[in-house]
Amino acid sequence: MKTIFITGASSGIGKATAKLFQSQGWNVIATMRKPENETELTQLENVTILALDVTDIEQIKSTVTKATGLFDIDVVVNNAGYGLLGALEAYTNENIIRQVDTNFLGTVRVTQEFIPHFREAQKGLFINVTSIGGHTGFPFTSIYNGTKWAVEGWSECLSIELSMFNVGVKTVAPSSTNTELFSHNVDVKHLPFYEATEKKMVGMIKPASSPEEIAEVIFEAATDDKDQLRYFAGKSSKAIYDRRQEIGAEASVKEIKKMYFDSLKTEV
Ligand code: NDP
Repeated sequence: MKTIFITGASSGIGKATAKLFQSQGWNVIATMRKPENETELTQLENVTILALDVTDIEQIKSTVTKATGLFDIDVVVNNAGYGLLGALEAYTNENIIRQVDTNFLGTVRVTQEFIPHFREAQKGLFINVTSIGGHTGFPFTSIYNGTKWAVEGWSECLSIELSMFNVGVKTVAPSSTNTELFSHNVDVKHLPFYEATEKKMVGMIKPASSPEEIAEVIFEAATDDKDQLRYFAGKSSKAIYDRRQEIGAEASVKEIKKMYFDSLKTEV
C-alpha cells in the first residue's frame, strides 16, 4: 500500500485529496493545524491525522519524524496555504511575512525535512500545489502570486537537483476553486483609492472548480509515472497558461490589465 503525506488537509483541496487517495486504497497521513476539530477524516480507514503548522519548524521536525517512523512515505503534497487579498500598500509587514512564511517557506521547510528520507530510499515524489497565479499576474494578490511564482521557480530548480536521487518534484496549478482560500483575510485594511477596482476584481473571481476536480489532477500527478514538472487543474488554468504562451508574457500582461480594468465580462 502506498502512503501519501498531505499538508493543510483540514479543508478544501487538501481534504478532497486525502479523501480521494484513501478511496483509491492509499494510506493517508493527513496533517492539519487543529486535528482536534477534525470529524470527517477521523472516520476513514487508513487515515492517520497528525498536527502540523507549516510555519512551526520544531513541529515540522517532530511530525515528519513521527510520520516516517510509522510508514514509508511515497508522496508528499505541499498544499497548505491561504490567499492574502488587497492592495500592496495596504498590507502590514506582518501580513506580508505571514503570507510568505506559510505559502513559500512552509513548503520549503516541509520538503527539506523529507529530502534525507527520499534520498536514502532513492525514490519519492513532492507535489506542490501552486496556482495559475504562479504563472501569471493578477491585481490585489501581488504577494500571494509572488509566493506561488516562488514555489513554481523553486520547484523547477529542485526537480533538477533531486533527479540525481530519483526523487521527483511536480507542481499542480489550480484556477479558482470553491474553498476557504480567501477567508483568512480578516486583518487586511481596504484603502479607499482601491475600493472600486478591488470590488470589481473580487466580483470577477468566480470559483468554477470543485476541490475534488483539483484532487483528481493531484492523483494523476502522483500515479502517472511521467517525468513531467507542471500540471494545470481546474476549469480555466490550462487555458490561461496556454493563452500566455501563445501571445507571449508582455501581451498577456496588457491583456490582463484590460480585462480587469476595462471590462467585467471575462471570467478568471
Ligand atoms: P482552504 O482554505 O480550504 O485550505 C487551506 C488549507 O491550508 C487549510 O487546511 C488550512 O488550515 C491550511 N493552512 C493554512 N495555513 C496553514 C499553516 N500555517 N500550516 C498548516 N496548514 C495551514 O483553501 P484551498 O483548499 O483552496 O487551498 C489549498 C491550496 O490550494 C493553497 O496552497 C492555495 O493557495 C491553492 N490554490 C487554491 C485556489 C482556490 O481558488 N481555492 C486556486 C489556486 C491555488 P486551517 O484549517 O488550519 O486554516
